[in-house]
Amino acid sequence: MRVMVKISGEALSGEGNKGFDQEKIKYLVSEIEKVVKAGYKIGIVTGAGNLFRGIELKDLSMKRADQIGLLGTIMNAIYLKDRFEKNGLKAKIFSQIVNLPDIEKVNYDSIEAALQDNFILIFAGGTSNPFFTTDTAAVLRAQEMGAEIIVKATKVDGVYDKDPKRFPDAKKIDRLTFTEAMRLGLKVMDAEAFALCRKLKIVVKVINFFEPNTLLRALKGEKVGSTILPD
Ligand code: UDP
Repeated sequence: MRVMVKISGEALSGEGNKGFDQEKIKYLVSEIEKVVKAGYKIGIVTGAGNLFRGIELKDLSMKRADQIGLLGTIMNAIYLKDRFEKNGLKAKIFSQIVNLPDIEKVNYDSIEAALQDNFILIFAGGTSNPFFTTDTAAVLRAQEMGAEIIVKATKVDGVYDKDPKRFPDAKKIDRLTFTEAMRLGLKVMDAEAFALCRKLKIVVKVINFFEPNTLLRALKGEKVGSTILPD
């Protein structure tokens, strides 16, 4: 089975932190290693919240701030490729936005060949355009690599009807549709990503990535996290 895993930049730094945290990255690599060893073919889209988010660079115009954010995703991808390889895992980076020795252009034949060869595919550079987020990039690349499911790796154990941190009576929703998620204004993914999932009929699983084995359990179909389905 082909799977896209969307990992936010903060998974590399720790929540609210910047940069790279060795323990966090070690954990991330070990969770991905488990699913690779179980035979899943994995694509990863990395965010850049640990380095720069366009929105944080308030003194710049958005189109420039977002380019800086996009470059952050490239840095994260290179970092992760190195860590995967140091742990004996094969990884390739695909991106449209830079020309660097370690990075291949997004090319469907190359993506297919890399999947056949069991490489972890790291897609960097978002959608290649400002004004989008890496959630939307995850949906786009998921479709391009033929993934059946997108796992959104978060720090909460699923989708709630309201923010569980602020409201103790928030209720977890195990299954819902994209239309329901959009109607309820749930901030699991941005509206563009939701709309694209709905159009392409891609299933999204929202999990607590920081609970060990949850990624593997979710892929095996165990009852963890929340599932967002096409209508
Ligand atoms: N970004 C962009 N276009 C894209 C994807 C990302 O301009 O298609 C920029 C944007 O500035 C964003 C940053 O890259 O803030 C990092 O992405 P994101 O905020 O999704 O990272 P995460 O919060 O998941 O770490």
